[in-house]
Amino acid sequence: MRITVPKLKITAAAALCLLASYSAALPVKEKSDVFKSYYTEEYLAFKKRIMGEFKKAGPGRFSEFVKNARVPRDKAGDENHKVMAFTFDACGGRSDGYNMKLIEYLRREQIPATLFVTGVWIEKNKEVFAELAADPLFEIENHGLRHRLCSTEGKTVYGVRATRDLGGVIDEMELGARYIYELTGRRPIFFRSATAYTDELSLRVAGRIGMEVVSYDILAGDANRFSAKKMSRNILKGARHGAVVIMHFNHPEWPNREALELAVPELRRRGYNFIKLDGFSLR
Ligand SMILES: [Zn+2]
Repeated sequence: MRITVPKLKITAAAALCLLASYSAALPVKEKSDVFKSYYTEEYLAFKKRIMGEFKKAGPGRFSEFVKNARVPRDKAGDENHKVMAFTFDACGGRSDGYNMKLIEYLRREQIPATLFVTGVWIEKNKEVFAELAADPLFEIENHGLRHRLCSTEGKTVYGVRATRDLGGVIDEMELGARYIYELTGRRPIFFRSATAYTDELSLRVAGRIGMEVVSYDILAGDANRFSAKKMSRNILKGARHGAVVIMHFNHPEWPNREALELAVPELRRRGYNFIKLDGFSLR
């Protein structure tokens, strides 16, 4: 189900997105007051135990696509039943806005979507977050506590702030999940690292603590500041059964809604239905 978009294009596109989130993440210190209460004795013991389990493991491959092998649970490949999943990230930090126009469009058109949110974004958007979490049209998933790129050896791309080590990865994943659970009563089952880059060890750790790492197939290009037309073209070009589209919903100034207004009618004409990621299962 992998979409073969030229690699260079993806990388250049992600770079722009990440520069934006990099500066955004800077003011947030490790163990800053906002999340201090989450470092309980119970949590620290839990973290120590997980670190012990993986202490001899190497980091493995570092990539945007360390794992990307999901297919829809139902009838993969049936011409009469084609599905795609729209996913929208809310990174936070300086880019902690809310694209209400986009969300209104998804509601009006009844397009289910998966929303990847960080703890730092939720902190700034508590009311909106509660509203989104209560809407069955949306699935809330984990984009990390502080929007750190998850690398067990502190690797990074595009100068984006990354976790320092295995412990940092656990903080980002587990505390992000606990924060969402505390507010919604539902623990996330998917995790997407800032930039979508991560290493294979992080992937194993995510699995150990009950989450699956998700990347994407189609980069619409909102973070590149592409026009609605160009984003729509990217989506239509990459459209195929089981494809996962990545966009953002924390930038109200980006033309995401306009892009979907162009792409969605054509996707529907081609016979696509839209599902949330929880409708996907492992290959
Ligand atoms: Zn992000």
